Amino acid sequence: MVPGPGTLVRVPLGRSTRLGVVWDRPAARAEVALRPLGEVFSMLPPLTPAWLRLVEFAAGYYQRGLGELALAALPPELRRLDGLQLARRLARLDRPPARAGGDADARLEELPELGDEQAAALEAVAVLAGMASPPALLLHGVTGSGKTEVYLRAAARALASGRQVLVLVPEINLTPQLEARFAARFPAHRLASQHSALTPAQRLANWLAAHRGQADLVLGTRMAVFASLPRLGLVVVDEEHDASFKQQDGARYSARDLAVYRGRLEGVPVLLGSATPSLETWHNVAEGRYRAAAMTARVGGGAMPRVRLLDMAALPRAPAGTQPPALAPALRAAIEQRIARGEQSLLLLNRRGYAPVLHCGACGWKSGCPHCSAWRVFHKADRTLRCHHCGFAERVPRACPECGNLDLGAVGRGTEKLEEQMAALLPGARIARIDADTTRGAGALAERLAAVHAGDVDVLVGTQIVAKGHDFRRVTLVAAVNPDGALFSSDFRAPERLFALLMQAAGRAGRDAAQAAGSEMWVQTWHPQHALYRALVAHDYAAFAAAQLGERRAAGLPPFTHLALLRAEARDAAVADGFLRDAAEAAAALPEGDAVTIYPPVPPPLARVAGLERLQMLVESRSRSALQRFLAAWVPALHGVRRTRRGLARWAVDVDPLAI
Ligand SMILES: [Zn+2]
Ligand SMILES: [Zn+2]
Repeated sequence: MVPGPGTLVRVPLGRSTRLGVVWDRPAARAEVALRPLGEVFSMLPPLTPAWLRLVEFAAGYYQRGLGELALAALPPELRRLDGLQLARRLARLDRPPARAGGDADARLEELPELGDEQAAALEAVAVLAGMASPPALLLHGVTGSGKTEVYLRAAARALASGRQVLVLVPEINLTPQLEARFAARFPAHRLASQHSALTPAQRLANWLAAHRGQADLVLGTRMAVFASLPRLGLVVVDEEHDASFKQQDGARYSARDLAVYRGRLEGVPVLLGSATPSLETWHNVAEGRYRAAAMTARVGGGAMPRVRLLDMAALPRAPAGTQPPALAPALRAAIEQRIARGEQSLLLLNRRGYAPVLHCGACGWKSGCPHCSAWRVFHKADRTLRCHHCGFAERVPRACPECGNLDLGAVGRGTEKLEEQMAALLPGARIARIDADTTRGAGALAERLAAVHAGDVDVLVGTQIVAKGHDFRRVTLVAAVNPDGALFSSDFRAPERLFALLMQAAGRAGRDAAQAAGSEMWVQTWHPQHALYRALVAHDYAAFAAAQLGERRAAGLPPFTHLALLRAEARDAAVADGFLRDAAEAAAALPEGDAVTIYPPVPPPLARVAGLERLQMLVESRSRSALQRFLAAWVPALHGVRRTRRGLARWAVDVDPLAI
């Protein structure tokens, strides 16, 4: 008997066998010689038609091979196992799972009472659940408004009707706390997480549990959007605006956008939660494609902190030859008051390391990376110069490599230096730092967060890691030390990301109603009149979004146009440039080429990485479907163009790129 679509099989390929998925049964063609299938994994249920359609859509939309995408969507461990090995894994799995705390989920009467806005949001989800093809729902709630409680209640309803729930979060760091809340609320249900920190065996076990319907809750990072869930009833995308939902290599898919597509495909509600929605989502609500529920009040009556803009231009100038202090005197005084009251302060600086560049005042030498068009960052703790793009690291030279000058200076400031300056500025204060450098080891982040929660820290210095999701009860002051850079970035999404980061950081303060009244966010800026900061002071996301969307419309940028990037990399920039020019010529020969505008090749902001020169070419269209039709005709032609260009290291198409 021929196995049906979705069946997992092993197929002979050369001398070995490979994992395969039966997709459909094409009519037999005389000119094609067929080989028999290897093993058929009949011990597993087939992947559902909806799963196959999701993968088909993703492969088509993001211009990747169907087989490549399907295999990438399955757990890697599955590729290695034969039938016997798989059967053994399953026998482990069939033992009843350990339950966290009992056989029954929390009862409704034991739960905290919902606020009016939470209840209305939950009602909106219920309405969607009753629709055959529900639109996505934006859950627009300020930090602390209790979005997670809405997720939990919506999940409870889906679980009660025998359905499975998929929850996507942007970062692995945020999975443990959300996992703990779901596990505590639903002890009678099995939860399977999906993220890259799991071992291959764990990932397979969790995947199988969901695929066989044993796990009812799947929680994970972007890869989890492809989880096999035969009884899917609800999708939640938490922090939907977060850039981490976009894959940055291989198949460059947006897990958020695929989640919305999956919901439509399977007719289940999709909740997009955020305090600062992506402008794409906000625009979709304005155009009536998505619905929205607003939650403006903080649970427990906490208020949003007062935002204070500190005009750096109004401060007295630092004497010639000296660096200005890291903190303006007024901010320093405010932090000292917090310390005296036993409250905590959080200082946000989105740049790790000690100083972004080391500089020789005698000859002008700077610590450039020999492989990239970037500076190597000075890390004082281990005395290294490290490139954050290719990883190239060297010990700090004792003298300038160009002129031998012994007096090398650190220019600018990273979190490591800020931590050191705070220790000098605030003697006796307990300072801690959280960034990618201090949280490398297993459990290091949890350990540092625990110290903050226990009150063992007065001033926490950190990068964006600390701004996201963490519930700091004792923090009453948040300060952005030097956020202006993003205002004038060439990246058109930089202001959107800065606003989201500052709003999220502000949300860390005043989560306790008792302390909320005195909570403040300080922003040190040279541009206090900037519209972004005015909107921040008013906690007015809508005003910010309206201004940004106006600029995007005038400039012909997303969501008003649809973009794809063709990227090329080679040791020799001329090779990459030649490939892109040939590609543009190939486009001009296509009938679909009329519907798009192709811009000349340009280097991206970071033009050289790990010894490869990068170039990119922008393709723009007013219509998403026209762009899709064009790409479907163009990308196959590019494989031919590529063969004529020797020395090209890589090329890739990025549909809906995050940065151009
Ligand atoms: Zn020098
Ligand atoms: Zn480098």
